[in-house]
Amino acid sequence: MQRRTILTGTALGVAGAALGLTRPAGARAGQPARGLLAVRGVTVIDAARGVRRDQTVLIRDDRILDADSAQRVPVPPGTRVVDGRGKYLIPGLADMHTHATGIDDTDPELYVVNGVTTTREMSGGAEARSWQRQVAAGERLGPRWTVGSKIIDGTPSLWEGIDTDNDLHIAVADPAQARAAVRQEHAAGAAFIKTYTRLSRTAFLAVAEECRRLGLPFLGHVPDFVELTEASDRGLRTVEHLFGIWYDTSADEQRLRRAVAAVPIGPGEYNGWFNRMHPLEYAAACTYDRRRAERVFRRVARNGTYVTPTLVLHETNDLPEQIDRHDPRNRYFSADMIGFWDWAVDNLYLPGRTPARIAESRELFRRRLSLTADLAAAGVPLMTGTDLGTSYLMPGFSLHDELALLVRAGLKPLEALGAATLNPARYLRRSDQGVVARGALADLVLLDADPLHDIRNTARIDSVVVRGRLLDRAARVHLLADIEARVKQPSATPATYRGCACHGPARAVV
Ligand SMILES: [Zn+2]
Repeated sequence: MQRRTILTGTALGVAGAALGLTRPAGARAGQPARGLLAVRGVTVIDAARGVRRDQTVLIRDDRILDADSAQRVPVPPGTRVVDGRGKYLIPGLADMHTHATGIDDTDPELYVVNGVTTTREMSGGAEARSWQRQVAAGERLGPRWTVGSKIIDGTPSLWEGIDTDNDLHIAVADPAQARAAVRQEHAAGAAFIKTYTRLSRTAFLAVAEECRRLGLPFLGHVPDFVELTEASDRGLRTVEHLFGIWYDTSADEQRLRRAVAAVPIGPGEYNGWFNRMHPLEYAAACTYDRRRAERVFRRVARNGTYVTPTLVLHETNDLPEQIDRHDPRNRYFSADMIGFWDWAVDNLYLPGRTPARIAESRELFRRRLSLTADLAAAGVPLMTGTDLGTSYLMPGFSLHDELALLVRAGLKPLEALGAATLNPARYLRRSDQGVVARGALADLVLLDADPLHDIRNTARIDSVVVRGRLLDRAARVHLLADIEARVKQPSATPATYRGCACHGPARAVV
């Protein structure tokens, strides 16, 4: 799912120039550190080896040179030393489901300041690619980015008429078009192919086939016309969101699948999809059969398919009445951004919320939490992702909310941490990531309080190390103040949001 405000190329340039954001945040701001850095006397926590007390972690450039008990790791003279006593060091966090919003140009720094050092962009836009380039070139601070393809959807696409420039999606009518779309995105440099909701079964199978031929991962939404187990058997790497999981696990699967296939969805009916699918999704969730689910999940786990539950997205969608529009973190976002969020809440999320629908949505969200716990218990690897672009979801900040929801769902804090560190690293096939160990990437977060005692302590950040560069407490405070000041500068022309009948994507026109 994604909701994204689309600025035209010109509008983006104008807004960016007005905010002074087309320049890197500071010369050499993102250059990897040179020299030695040590965090001494710290409690290290990672999902691979658990808790280790009184450790020294020695870092050179962008790698961990050594990590062991303090007595075993001598600190050479001239090393910059951070006193880690009473503090907790975890690997950098990953947000595996993001969309660049096209409004504020502050996402890279917001991720890092919040300890998010890895991100996966799910709609392959030019903006994320340019951030990826800037960060890799050391021009600005930011996470390591994996950028996927445009969304590959069926016809009619939920994006038809919304994404009018076809910046974000490709609609494919048949297997031949599906294969051509995969080849096109592969040639354009996509790190993976993202499948979408309305792909036909035959087109989905063609995507799977073509991706296998090219050695390209494919992942995304389980289309309405495909069983989760079949998608997983065919090699779907990750399932995004929990929408596509209910039908395989329902005692009433056959009837509900016939009903889903008969739902008429027209072109561009993004919001209509939610409204028409809601009764069926609710019915499927209410007929959830744990024994069936266990069989399905074990098969998915055996296939090595990951799930990114995006609970913060579901909470926003299911319970829009709970959105805190006066969140103190709003100060890090421009008036245009907040205006867009409010527009979407008022025009898309809240209309039609009868008491009966609200009660159903509450129950549905409660069931999503227990579904998440069942997935984890069956051994399905979970990853943290937020679906940035959704109203009031905030780069970096919302990842901590996702961690808290995973624990509320029933995961142990260390399992939740693993979903934000070790599992994304395994998914990316990087053995040097997601752990605090000799030779690993120096992406780390130093916390003031124990995240295993209370997962919300992941937000109590003292310092962040990204690509070996230390962002200490003072630097973090400074950077946040800088972001706050940058987003307050007026944009060239106020954005307005052209209303559409969709669930969120809107064109900001200037
Ligand atoms: Zn999305």
